[in-house]
Amino acid sequence: MRKLIIAMSAALFGTAAAPAPPKLLVVISVDQFSANLFDEYRPHFTQGMARLASGTVFRNGYQSHALTETCPGHSTILTGDHPSRTGIVGNTWIDQSIGRSDKTVYCAEDETQPGTSSIAYKVSPKHLLVPTLGELMKRKWPASRTVAVSGKDRAAVMMSGQHPDQRWYWTGKKYDTDLTDVAAPAAVAKVNALVAQGLATERGPLDPTPYCQTKAREVAISGGGKPVGTGRLARRAGDANAFRASPEFDGDTLALAAALIDEMKLGRGTAPDLLAISLSATDYVGHSYGTEGEEMCLQLTELDREIGDFLKVLDSRGLNYSVSLTADHGGKDVPERDRLAGVTDATRIDPALGAAAMGKKLVAELKLPGGPGLLGENFGDMWIDRRLRATERAQLLKAALAAYRTHPQVEAVFTARQIAATPVPRTRPENWSVLQRVRASYREGRSGDFYVVLKRDVTPIADTSRYVATHGSVWDYDRRVPILFWRPGARGATVERSTETTDIMPTLASIIGLPVQAGSVDGHCLAEVPGVACPSR
Ligand SMILES: [Zn+2]
Repeated sequence: MRKLIIAMSAALFGTAAAPAPPKLLVVISVDQFSANLFDEYRPHFTQGMARLASGTVFRNGYQSHALTETCPGHSTILTGDHPSRTGIVGNTWIDQSIGRSDKTVYCAEDETQPGTSSIAYKVSPKHLLVPTLGELMKRKWPASRTVAVSGKDRAAVMMSGQHPDQRWYWTGKKYDTDLTDVAAPAAVAKVNALVAQGLATERGPLDPTPYCQTKAREVAISGGGKPVGTGRLARRAGDANAFRASPEFDGDTLALAAALIDEMKLGRGTAPDLLAISLSATDYVGHSYGTEGEEMCLQLTELDREIGDFLKVLDSRGLNYSVSLTADHGGKDVPERDRLAGVTDATRIDPALGAAAMGKKLVAELKLPGGPGLLGENFGDMWIDRRLRATERAQLLKAALAAYRTHPQVEAVFTARQIAATPVPRTRPENWSVLQRVRASYREGRSGDFYVVLKRDVTPIADTSRYVATHGSVWDYDRRVPILFWRPGARGATVERSTETTDIMPTLASIIGLPVQAGSVDGHCLAEVPGVACPSR
């Protein structure tokens, strides 16, 4: 990051910050940054994360819904709504009515584009059903700009919505955009060239801090995976997968964000601007190595430094800005290390529970005419093959419910009818029942025919040859995330009461004087944040 910033260095504007409200809202999502990780590392942060943590910290924030994946999580942060309203029920869902042979729909694609699939997709915000904060800012102040920069396309899309001014995300080779009607800033080509140059160069192992050294302990992984725990994130020249699962990825995303601030003069116009940043490396590190090894420690140490460098750039420009930071979901360590730490029930999923395996078994048992029987990408929305006759579908649903409900790794199974009949809860998120969590993830027409909830501490990865750990469950290790609000010079308190990521949008709206009618979004303005004047409820 530092090197890139020097390389990208634009003119300095060294004047003192103007009084409130801020002219540039920076909203950072750290992918898979659980509240458990934030709590653990908070005493060890000394740079950017430490500055942000000196503001107002809601340490019990919630991505309250059930399917705690990247796309739904990012859809809540700047819309103020749960996935039941945003429509982003998962990273993918099944739509058996679409014309193409691939019936899986990616959350941030346009599946009507010819020749596309859920893997080779055309990026689009069309599935997001509600406006983002940036869109509302533009309605009130046409001069307001919205910019999104991210490691993942779906994160950038869900934080910026329809018609942002710029939207850039990493595609595996470069930062690219789906916006065809706006000119690319010159900074993008420059950053892409520097990133390509860096990627082509081998990187040695990172030096662990004393704390990270205490985390170094090799753990054997079941399911074919390599041992984890003592990695230092070294990378061979050109290894794009290792690049993605390392702090240099976040550094580059932040460098692009900083370059766009300079080139677009964000925060210097007549109206407030919004810069949404999603930092994806923590998620890839978590999936690749788990959350409690030396690898994650090195990642979070570097993240602290990278964010610190980024804030120094904003300071040096004399901008009147604020930073909010949260996560799209939490995460969980590998079950093998969890067990060593005393979580005796931690285990990997029985592969027989997957939709394909279960569907095949039930189709044979019920002597149905063939086909997959069940469809589903993850736990847990599941769909019944609609090419079956109505009586066969009913038979299959009944058999599937019975099979899942009696499996020892399954907590609960709910039918779509049961879920739809449940009101979206309005109580504190830590008190929501499992069914209420599933309800906040449910959208008629997109969600499955039934929903399978795995028991706590069951990791839904059996084959560990690619990834060893994940998130996505209804349990609080995946739901609980930090929510931070900070402005230069301001000191805040740590708040224990629970809040939700849907509260971020109405809170930021209040700070910049953008009216959000009470009840028009799921979230609520957070009165503890300085500069907020919450409307009466
Ligand atoms: Zn994520």
